[in-house]
Amino acid sequence: MTLQDKTCIVTGAASGIGREIALTYARAGGKLVIADLNLPAAQAVADEIQSAGGSAMAVAMDVTSEEQVNAAVAAAVAAFGGVDILVSNAGVQIVHPIEDYPFADWKKMLAIHLDGAFLTTKACIPHMKAAGRGGSIIYMGSVHSKEASVLKSAYVTAKHGLIGLCKTMAKEGGPFGIRANVICPGFVRTPLVDKQIPEQAQALGISEGDVVKNVMLRETVDGEFTTVEDVAAVALLFAGFASNALTGQSIVVSHGWFMQ
Ligand code: NAD
Repeated sequence: MTLQDKTCIVTGAASGIGREIALTYARAGGKLVIADLNLPAAQAVADEIQSAGGSAMAVAMDVTSEEQVNAAVAAAVAAFGGVDILVSNAGVQIVHPIEDYPFADWKKMLAIHLDGAFLTTKACIPHMKAAGRGGSIIYMGSVHSKEASVLKSAYVTAKHGLIGLCKTMAKEGGPFGIRANVICPGFVRTPLVDKQIPEQAQALGISEGDVVKNVMLRETVDGEFTTVEDVAAVALLFAGFASNALTGQSIVVSHGWFMQ
């Protein structure tokens, strides 16, 4: 039970990758804060954890709202007595060629991915420092933190930006035993990706099957999607690691799509 009694806040934990990380952390003994825009879906994940004998609460949080982030972190601290692990995972995807990319969508993408990571980090760090038992901050990057694809100017920009924030937090957190790392998944079959397949097919003028085979998985070593379980396993490693030896890093989990 590597996370026994650790309080873990996971944003975007009502669905997909965040949900699987929350379930994995709960099985490892963590006390889970399921933070999401979608409160009923977050509550369902918290209920699932509680029915399996774990500890969890759901909180409504729009990661772009400083007020909501601060209120949700305060509620988590009041309920569980601190914050040990933050997984800044909430994210969306909007694809357009840049000449058609609405400025409002560009700002929305940067707000969810970058403001969200900044605000949740800023809210959690004082509690980690005050408790004096270190902490782990995990940003959900992407292969697109290292690599680019057409139609994804805002996503690629935001996901690259997380690496800079992570390295800075590793340095600021180091003296307090607070580590910061980035997970960079390849394509994972979640609602975020299911929505993209028809959109990319239309934008690129190809079939949905070709989007999967020739766009999403073409560069992998085996034509396979990465799974939510693959990503959660890396998230558990980062969360449970015992020292500052593993900080300021980004690990790509993508069936070899991107190799460092
Ligand atoms: P998902 O759509 O299954 O889940 C995303 C969750 O984030 C949803 O529950 C949604 O309600 C929540 N959310 C969206 N906006 C929010 C906001 N403003 N505040 C709080 N919650 C919000 O998506 P997923 O595939 O699980 O993606 C999770 C993360 O993983 C994202 O950061 C995404 O960029 C990243 N990622 C996904 C893939 C992939 O292939 N699925 C690959 C690499 C990285």
